[in-house]
Amino acid sequence: MAKAQETVLEIDLKALEHNFKYLKAKLNSKTIFLAVVKAFAYGSDAAKIANYLQELNVDYFAVAYIDEGVALRKAGITRPILVLHPQAINFKKLLEYNLEPSLYNTKILNEFITVAFAEKQTDYPVHIKFNTGLNRLGFSKNDVDFIVSKLKETNTIKAKSIFSHLAASEDLDEKAFTKNQINVFNKISEKFEKLIGYKPIRHICNTSGILNYQDAHLDMVRSGIGLYGFGNSEKESQALKPVATLKTIISQIHHIQKGQSIGYNRSFKCNMPLKSATLPIGHADGIGRIYGNGNGYVTINGKKAPILGNVCMDMIMVNITDIDCKEGDEVIIFGNSVSAENVAALANTISYELITSISQRVKRTYIGN
Ligand SMILES: *Cc1c(COP(=O)(O)O)cnc(C)c1O
Repeated sequence: MAKAQETVLEIDLKALEHNFKYLKAKLNSKTIFLAVVKAFAYGSDAAKIANYLQELNVDYFAVAYIDEGVALRKAGITRPILVLHPQAINFKKLLEYNLEPSLYNTKILNEFITVAFAEKQTDYPVHIKFNTGLNRLGFSKNDVDFIVSKLKETNTIKAKSIFSHLAASEDLDEKAFTKNQINVFNKISEKFEKLIGYKPIRHICNTSGILNYQDAHLDMVRSGIGLYGFGNSEKESQALKPVATLKTIISQIHHIQKGQSIGYNRSFKCNMPLKSATLPIGHADGIGRIYGNGNGYVTINGKKAPILGNVCMDMIMVNITDIDCKEGDEVIIFGNSVSAENVAALANTISYELITSISQRVKRTYIGN
C-alpha cells in the first residue's frame, strides 16, 4: 500500500471481491445478485466498481437515476441496469442506453408506455415496484389488478421483475414489521404471477435483508452497503472489508503558544502550548463542519488527533501534541484501520452518509486490481 502524498480515496478492489463473495455465499444457487452502484458506487467510483463486479459475473446493476446508468454504459457495462428512480424527462435516453426503469405509480407507468410505444419498443423490460411499508415509492397491493390489465393490453413493455424495499431490515427490534412487509410482498407476487401468467424476478432484500432474512432472498437480492464493507451489525461488519480508505498528509506543523487561537472565528483558543498539524482536506471534500471543534478526529501513526477549531473549506487543523509525526506523514480519516461507521457516529450519522459525501475533488486511487 503506497503512502499517500496528497488527499486520496483509496479503493481496494480485493476487498470488494471479498465482500461480493461473502454475500453471495449467503444465497442459494438460484438467487441472482444485483449490485447497487448508485451515487458513484456509494461515493467511490461507479465505473471502476461496476467493471470489477462485471468481471466477477455479477448478474445485475442498479442506479438511482438515468444519467448514472448512461455513465455505466459509457464505461463498458453490458449487464442489465435497473434505474430505481427514473425521471420521465429522460425516458428517451433510458431507451437509447438500454436501461430498465422501476415503475412505481400510474403516472410514471403511463408516461413510460407512451414514450416506449412512440419509440416502437416491444416487451421492453420494466420493474414494477410495490410499497409494503416504507412509504417512499411504489404501487399499493391493491393495484395488482390494474397493473396486470395495463400490462396485458400492451406489448410495448413487459414486467421483468416485481419488487419492494424493506424499511428496517437492519433493526431486529422491527422483525415483526419486516416479516409483515415480506408477507405482503409474497401475497402480491402470488397474485401478480397468477394473473399475468408468467414469473417475473421477485426481489425485496437489501444488504441487511440478505444478512437477516434468509427466507426472503427470493429470486434476486440487491446489495449496496455490504459490497462496500458495512453490514449494519458489529458481527457482519467484522466479516466484511471496507473498500474505501480516505487518506491525506500533514502539510504543516505549528507550535502554538498559550493564549493563541487556531482557525476561523478563533473558535479554538489554546490554554496550554500545543502542536497542531494542518491537513489538505476540508468540508468541500466531505468532512462536514460538524466534525470541527473536537467532535471528529483523524488517525496519525495509529493515534487519534482531534480536529481543532472549525473545519475550513480546504483544510482542517488537528491536535498532534502527543503524536510523534512530521510534515509529509500520512493521515487516515477512515478506512481499514479506522471504521467509517465509528467516524460517522461522531457526527450522529451513518456510514452511508459519510462515504457518499466524499466529493469528486478527492482523487480516487486503486489497489488490488
Ligand atoms: C439503495 C438501495 C438498495 C441498497 O441498499 P443497501 O442497504 O445499501 O444494501 C437496495 N434497494 C433499493 C431500492 C435502494 O434504494
